[in-house]
Amino acid sequence: MDIALQDSRLFRQACYSNGEWVSDGNAGSIEVVNPATDEVIGRVPSLDEGQVSASIAAAAEGFASWRKMSVADRSACLRRWFELMHEHKEDLARIMTLEQGKPISESLGEIDYAASYIEWFTEEAKRGYGEVIPAVKANQRIVVRPEPVGVSVAITPWNFPAAMITRKAAAALAAGCSMLVKPSSLTPFSALALAELGERAGLPAGVFSVLTGSSSVIGEVFTQSTTVKKLSFTGSTEVGRKLMAMCADNLHKLSLELGGNAPFVVFDDADLDLAVKGALAAKFRNTGQTCICPNRFLVQAGVHDAFVDKLSAALSEFKVGDGFAEDVKQTSLINADAVKKVQRHYDDALEHGAKVVLGERPGALANNRVAPIVLTGLTADMQIWQEETFGPLAPVMKFDSEQEGIDAANDTPFGLAAYFYASNNDRVWRVSEALQAGMVGANEGGISNAMAPFGGIDQSGFGREGGRQGMAEYQQLKYVCFGESGPTM
Ligand code: NAP
Repeated sequence: MDIALQDSRLFRQACYSNGEWVSDGNAGSIEVVNPATDEVIGRVPSLDEGQVSASIAAAAEGFASWRKMSVADRSACLRRWFELMHEHKEDLARIMTLEQGKPISESLGEIDYAASYIEWFTEEAKRGYGEVIPAVKANQRIVVRPEPVGVSVAITPWNFPAAMITRKAAAALAAGCSMLVKPSSLTPFSALALAELGERAGLPAGVFSVLTGSSSVIGEVFTQSTTVKKLSFTGSTEVGRKLMAMCADNLHKLSLELGGNAPFVVFDDADLDLAVKGALAAKFRNTGQTCICPNRFLVQAGVHDAFVDKLSAALSEFKVGDGFAEDVKQTSLINADAVKKVQRHYDDALEHGAKVVLGERPGALANNRVAPIVLTGLTADMQIWQEETFGPLAPVMKFDSEQEGIDAANDTPFGLAAYFYASNNDRVWRVSEALQAGMVGANEGGISNAMAPFGGIDQSGFGREGGRQGMAEYQQLKYVCFGESGPTM
C-alpha cells in the first residue's frame, strides 16, 4: 500500500532487534488495519519465543556497552533521536493517523509531545546525582550511587503509539539501561518508525529494540527472563495485574500505568467558559480514548444547567470524520469493539434514567465513528460510573455541597487523574488536597508534560513517567561504605 511518505523507509514492516531488521516472524505475521477504513495497511512479523529470547540476550550486550559510554555521548545520541523526530514529524504523524485514526493535527501534537520526553531525558541523563552521607564513624565515608537497573522491557498501548514509548525508552536509555519495546499489535508502525530513527541517531545495536508478535508469547518471555530486570507497562488494569503476578517469580522492578476513571468537578464559583474549554481538551482529545480522560462530570447545582448548555453547544460544532480531513475533531474509535463499549455504557445509562442532551446512540455512524454525546442524570449505579468508557461520551451528575462533589469524585478504586474548576482560593487548595489521584488539574484540562511526574495510585498503578522521577524508575541505589584502607604508604 502506498502511504505517501516523504521518507518511505520510515514505514517498516519488520521488527528491529540487535540493530537489525527482522522481517520473518517464526510465528507468522500480524495484519495492521486502518480503523477509519478497515483496510489492511501492512503486516509485521510475529516473533516466537526463541526470537524474543535472542533479542533479550542482545539487549544484555547492548546494556553492557551503553552503560559504560560517557553520559555526554549517551545524551548526544538521545538528542539526535529527538531532532530526527522533529525532522520527520509529518511522516511520523501520517503513520500514526493511518494506524490509530486520530486527527492528523493531534498526531502532529503527539509527535511533539513524544519527542519532548526524549529532549527532557537528554538533559536528565546528565543529572544522575548520588549522595554523600555523614557516616557514624570518623574513619568511614558513605556514598550512595544510582546505577542503571539493566535490561528493561516495555509493553505499550495503542492510544498514544509514540508517546507511551518515548517516555519509557528515553528515561531508560538516559539512566544507562537498554530497552526492548512490545508495542500494541494495533499500532506497531509508529514504534518501528521510532526504531528506524533511533538507528539513524546512532543508538548502538541492542540498546533499543522493537519486537512485534503475540502479547501472551512476548509477555511470557519478558516476565520469565532473568536477564530482564525491569518491566514498564501501560495499558489496562486487567492486563497490568496479570503482568504483575507473572513478574513475581523473578521480582522484576515494575512500573504500571493503568486505566483511570477521572472525575471532572465543576463548582458553583467556577469560570464556566474555562471549565468548558478544559472539558473539551481533556475529554475529547483522541476521540475520548485517553487514560486521563474525564469519565464522570460532576457539576454543582447552581451551574449545572449552564455548564451542560455551554458544553453541548461547543460540542455540536465538532466535525466528525476522517483523520486526514481538515478541521475534523472526532474520528474513528480504534475498532468495532470500542464502539460497542460506548454503546453498552450509553444503553445502560438510559436504562438507569439518564437523559440525552446531545448526540445519538453509538453505532449509528459508519467507520467506527462516534459523535460527541452529553447525558445528564448520571448516577453511581451506572456502568459509566464504574468503568472507563474510552469514547466521546460525557455523562453529567448534579451535586449540592462541596463535600458531596468531593465524595462523588473519590468514589472509584482508580486514581489516575482528577480535574476540578473553582475560583475561591481556599476551595482550590482544599479540593486539590482532597481529591484522590496521582494527578490533579486545578482549573486546567491539559496536565500531561515531560517535566511533571505522570502516574496513578490505587488501581491505576504505580511508578512515574517524566519529571526527575521518571529516570529513577530505571535506576537502583548502591550504597558504598568506605572504611579505612590502611596506613598510607
Ligand atoms: P491492553 O489491552 O491492556 O493492552 C496494552 C498492551 O498490553 C498492548 O501492547 C497489548 O498487546 C498488551 N497485552 C495485552 N494482553 C497481554 C498479556 N496477556 N500479556 C502481555 N501483554 C499483553 O490496553 P489497550 O487497550 O491497548 O490500552 C487501553 C488501556 O490503556 C486503557 O485502560 C487506558 O486507560 C490505559 N492507558 C493508561 C495510560 C497511563 O499512563 N496510565 C496511558 C495510556 C493508556 P496487543 O495489542 O498485542 O494485544
